Formats: sequence, C-alpha cells, structure tokens
Amino acid sequence: MEKTLKAIQDALLYFAQPDERIYYPYLISSLIIAILLFLTYNKSFKGLMTYIFPYKRLLHISSLNDVLLLIINHVINVVFFVPFLINSILLAYLIQQWMESLLGYSTIQISDEAAIVYYAVAYFIISDFSRYVLHFLLHKISFLWEFHKVHHSAEVLTPITLYRVHPVESMLFQLRSVFIGGLVSGIFLWIYPYSITPYVVWGVHVGTFVFNILGANLRHSHVWFSFGKYLERIFISPAQHIIHHSSDPKHFNKNMGSELAIWDWLFKTLYITKEKEEVKFGVEESKEHRNLLKIIFQPFVKAFRRNK
Ligand SMILES: [Zn+2]
Ligand SMILES: [Zn+2]
Repeated sequence: MEKTLKAIQDALLYFAQPDERIYYPYLISSLIIAILLFLTYNKSFKGLMTYIFPYKRLLHISSLNDVLLLIINHVINVVFFVPFLINSILLAYLIQQWMESLLGYSTIQISDEAAIVYYAVAYFIISDFSRYVLHFLLHKISFLWEFHKVHHSAEVLTPITLYRVHPVESMLFQLRSVFIGGLVSGIFLWIYPYSITPYVVWGVHVGTFVFNILGANLRHSHVWFSFGKYLERIFISPAQHIIHHSSDPKHFNKNMGSELAIWDWLFKTLYITKEKEEVKFGVEESKEHRNLLKIIFQPFVKAFRRNK
C-alpha cells in the first residue's frame, strides 16, 4: 500500500522528472515554440492566451482519462513489473559473456571518444527502429490494435496524451526498452570492454534531449508545427504525429515513427505534411472510452473475441 501511494505521488511529479517528456523545461520550450508559431501566423497577440492554454481541451474528459492512465501505468510498472523485470545491465552482461564465448575477445580497436560516439549513435538508431517496429505491429496485428486503440481514442491531444496507453501496451514498451538497452550495451561491452558513459543531458540520452527540447510536446497538441517536406523525411515533426492521430482514413497507419522518419519512408508509411490540415481525432470507440473501466477492460474482451 505504501509502495502504491509513493508510486501515485511520483506519477503526479512527472513534470519535475528530467527523464520524462513532460519535464517542465521541455514544456516551456514547447510553449515558446507555440507562441512563436502563433505570432508568425496571426501577427497579433489577440487570442494568444486561449491558444496556448486551451482550457476546454485541457478539461475535456479525454484529457482527464489521460492523467488517470499516466498514474495507473506508473503504479502497475512500479508495483508489479519492475521488481520482476530482468534489467538492462544484467542483460548487457549476459550478452557480452555470450559473445565472448562464441567469438572470443574482440580485436576491434577504437578510441574512447569513438566508442562513446558509436554507442550514442547506435543506441539512438536501434532504439528508435525498435519503437517503430513495435508501433507498426500494434497497428497491423488486430489483437494488439485493440489495446493500441486506447492511445488513438483520445478526442483531444495534450502533452499528457503521450501517457494515454493501455497497461498492456505500456508493458510491451517497457520490455522493449529493457531488451534494446541490454542488447546494444551488451554488444558494445564486447567491442569495448570498459565502462562507457553515454552522452547525457539532464540524465537522458543526448538525442532524446534534443528531440524533447525542440517541441516534442507539440506532437500531442493542437499546435501545427511542421518541419517542411525535406526534413520530414528524416525526422518526425509534431504535425506528422498529429496526422498519425487523425480519424480520416487517408491518414490511417501513417507516420508510425518516434524520432526518425526514415523507417516510415523505407516501409512506405510516411505522410509528409504540406499545408496545415484540420484534423479530427479519435476512433469508433472514443465515446465509450470516456469511461475509464471501458478503457481498461474493453480491449481484452474485443481482442480475445477477434481471436476466436
Ligand atoms: Zn499509433
Ligand atoms: Zn500519439
């Protein structure tokens, strides 16, 4: 019980945690970008306050459920999964041992600096690719789609919608993170058997820091922030993720990447934004998903019914 209460308290403090996307400096940077975009297009301050603090959206039942799901997922992870999960460090060690027994000691010679750069780049690319693959499977396997629909049933987008995921999806992403962290670190420990201190800013990988500070929170918002047709082939812009949430069939299964757009480009799921599009959000279940119990239990019922 004490653990649960502590977990709820921690979940409510996500704004103060540097490894969370809604860490307050990232929210502030997104806010500044939103203000600049507003002033560029409107050339006046009129309407700015309701644009940056859209209280109707923030108080929508969909947003309130986003907050509840953030708390529920955090509690489930802390109380039920974390104690049993094999962690990345142990997995990295096992992979290093396994590679040594299979291939012997590595003969690759690299400098300390090169090791850090290769590790940072490899981790960023492989981790991002694994997120694309998992997201792709959540869309393409009908059983998994029932659970991923919870993210897509959001009727309004706010930065907290990032955490609006079904606990089953949350667990799959946790497992992905442990597995990829262990795999990449294990292979690197075999190549370069000294401790590597990756580039980190505020405790997160430098790539994630740059991504977060450049307005990542606008991906779940009403603010249209496009990177332009060239850059959107390489990096997923906030506008491209807004398209991902669209209820218009022409946008279905598009832009499933997290940070890099190259996977969408390679696997033909890329949608490049041209001008600002009026996008409606939600899926068939959105109205039912205003009820938290339905959000949690309905996917199980539908997923197993599909599989019969
Ligand atoms: Zn999706
Ligand atoms: Zn989303």
